[in-house]
Amino acid sequence: MKMDISLDPKLKEDQFSAWYDPRSWRHLTDQATVESWLGRSMICPACGRQHTITTRAITAASPLADCAADLIQALGFDGRALIVMDRRTEAAAGAALAEQLSRFHPAAFVFAEEHLHADENALGQLMMGLANRPDFLISCGSGTVTDITRYLSYVSEIPFIAVATAASVDGYASATTPLLHHGFKRTFPGVAPQAIFYDPQVLAQAPPAMTAAGFADVLAKVVALLDWRLAWHLEDEPYCPLIAGLVDRAVADCLSLAGDLAWRPDQVDSQTMDRRAKACDQLMSALSLTGIAMQMMGTSRPASGADHQISHLLEMRDVKNGRAASLHGDKVGLGTLISLSMYQSLFEERSLPAQHPILPAARWAQEVRRVYGQQAATALAINEPEPPQGALWEAQKIRLDAAMNAFGYEVISSFAGLLPRAEALITAMGGPTRASQLGYTRQDLYDAVAFGKENRPKLTVLRLAERFGRLYDLAQDAADHWI
Ligand SMILES: [Zn+2]
Ligand SMILES: [Zn+2]
Repeated sequence: MKMDISLDPKLKEDQFSAWYDPRSWRHLTDQATVESWLGRSMICPACGRQHTITTRAITAASPLADCAADLIQALGFDGRALIVMDRRTEAAAGAALAEQLSRFHPAAFVFAEEHLHADENALGQLMMGLANRPDFLISCGSGTVTDITRYLSYVSEIPFIAVATAASVDGYASATTPLLHHGFKRTFPGVAPQAIFYDPQVLAQAPPAMTAAGFADVLAKVVALLDWRLAWHLEDEPYCPLIAGLVDRAVADCLSLAGDLAWRPDQVDSQTMDRRAKACDQLMSALSLTGIAMQMMGTSRPASGADHQISHLLEMRDVKNGRAASLHGDKVGLGTLISLSMYQSLFEERSLPAQHPILPAARWAQEVRRVYGQQAATALAINEPEPPQGALWEAQKIRLDAAMNAFGYEVISSFAGLLPRAEALITAMGGPTRASQLGYTRQDLYDAVAFGKENRPKLTVLRLAERFGRLYDLAQDAADHWI
């Protein structure tokens, strides 16, 4: 292994050496090593950058309530706690937790909404609940309760601890907050939790659809990693093989136990539930690790690619239509299956695709206005009207060809087995694999695949398909197949 450390990995002579392969860094991604990084900054042995992790502890315990007070005290917290939850998570874990935290004089804030959203209303309610100025916050719930608490923690500068009640999303460890603002989903600042605690037995009892959604959010990293590596080779986007290795290991660990996440309502004996709890523990660990990877990189790049571009557009469609939102991971799962198959279609000849005409700029703008409606101005402002062409694209194609030969075709060949397996696993877990199961039309799906790329302008398989003039045909195929 090379020991010279360059601040700019692009200066490395051989960009296709094992140094840049995520699998080469497995030896530094075991649990003990990652735990030693929590709560500190490190100079990365792989990319030479400084990576900072705010979260100081990720701890599984069962029953969590029995040891939560000691875990919190060990982090140095004292004073008064406010526990934020909704009615369901209060029953699942919050009430038991409050009983055991008497040394922190806990107050409870319980959202009464059946369908809680991280929006102005929920934020206002919790703001009023902070009147007594607690010393720290504990979110007890899944993505929505955690995000509401995260944002209030950010603006009030009162630190928070996340107690996860479902292995449903990778956002627990996130440092940014997706919020609904006037009905539009936007990313606001936030803070990462000081610690993430969970009880595998509680995770195993969460609604099966939530666990399926979490699994899909981990699976998406297969697409995200390939998108990221190609973006580094084509566009010099910052890349760290150690962080990629961390995400790669999280996916591999999660897939190895995924069979035990299948939901069989007739099998709730203690042995089956123990296996389920163990698999949920593994899933939650994978979700936490990918969140930590995002903290280290300072962006969502290690964990979000074309899969999330597609899902974000479907989420915006939900908001526009005033529908009670389905789970984030449901749409990410669909975006992942589509992205995997798009990589297969685009590179089916194991060579670069033939060049087809790209969409003219005026037609593109017309389509963006149709799909994005009131948000079209933003989408038009943050995107180029046409993909790179001419000498720039020709130079990028040479880089792409080299990257595909070095690792891309090998990764994509694994999708032949992964895609049907992923579909079967999500189905067995009780999750959706077709857009119509989530109430979307064929047009909704086409729009998300064809114009998801404008949502977050970054290079993914959707952008690659666009550059080869294939995106809109492949989006038609995807809409036919995955509806
Ligand atoms: Zn690094
Ligand atoms: Zn996600």
